[in-house]
Amino acid sequence: MIELKNASQIAKMRKAGKIVADTLQLLRENVRPGLTTADLDRLAEAYIRRQKAIPAFKGYNGFPATLCTSINEEVVHGIPSLRKLQPGDIISIDCGAIYDGYVGDSAVTLPVGEISTIHQQLLKITEESLAVGLVHARVGNRLYDISHAIQEHVESYGLSVVRDFVGHGIGREMHEDPQIPNFGKPGRGPRLELGMVLAIEPMVNLGTYQVKVLDNNWTVVTKDGLASAHFEHTVAVTENGPEILTLC
Ligand code: MG
Ligand code: MG
Repeated sequence: MIELKNASQIAKMRKAGKIVADTLQLLRENVRPGLTTADLDRLAEAYIRRQKAIPAFKGYNGFPATLCTSINEEVVHGIPSLRKLQPGDIISIDCGAIYDGYVGDSAVTLPVGEISTIHQQLLKITEESLAVGLVHARVGNRLYDISHAIQEHVESYGLSVVRDFVGHGIGREMHEDPQIPNFGKPGRGPRLELGMVLAIEPMVNLGTYQVKVLDNNWTVVTKDGLASAHFEHTVAVTENGPEILTLC
């Protein structure tokens, strides 16, 4: 069942979303070669707690950290560690925070120093696909209108969308109904209604869409070892159209 949020609930989610967005902005300003992913995690956790919010991922199904940090061929759910960022890496940072009982969820992929042209393209097209998808988060549209727009944008550049992981409804719980695939046929899926809040999150691979999970049971990597990018926003369906809640 898809839970609809009223205006006061969306106001709370806006606050949670802003904390997540500000955390990602802080990380964007700090990402550089030599820093470890554990350093980023510490920065993020301290910032979130200073805002009187709670890191949403820490302890979620046993996940040990505030951020998911996924480098290069890692798609999602990378665990912060003492691994140092290298020039030319790309790092996907996924962040969630709970404020006043509501969750915000957003992700970005950032370059570390100078990156290759092909990786620049991967980041650009993935971020664009999120924008192209979320504009369909309007009353009266169907859910897979979003999915289809993302897939079409990505595949028009010869890239692929991950099938095994999808976006989701969000509210008091980080993962609520509906699931939001980044692929599908337009005109299908649930009708979008006022008060739905959706975490839309294309995961885009340079090569095959196929992924596998590493032995740590968390880190998802591409099967072919080629790079992957991930962008995510929490978006409310309002009477004025889509409202991105995870903006600074
Ligand atoms: Mg996320
Ligand atoms: Mg999410």
